[in-house]
Amino acid sequence: MEKHRYLVRIRCKQCGERFILKGQLRRGKVETGFKRCLCNNSGEFEITSEKL
Ligand SMILES: [Zn+2]
Repeated sequence: MEKHRYLVRIRCKQCGERFILKGQLRRGKVETGFKRCLCNNSGEFEITSEKL
C-alpha cells in the first residue's frame, strides 16, 4: 500500500510560532499528530501542506 507523505507547515495565529511536521494522508485528511501550540492554542492555525 502506497503511503502519501506530506510536509506540513503550521503557524500559530496566537503567538506566531511555526512548526514543520511530516504528515500522512488518511481518509482525505493530512494527519500529523499535532495537537496544540506551546501557548496552549489548539484551534487557530494557518496550515499549508505539500506533497513529498
Ligand atoms: Zn502559539
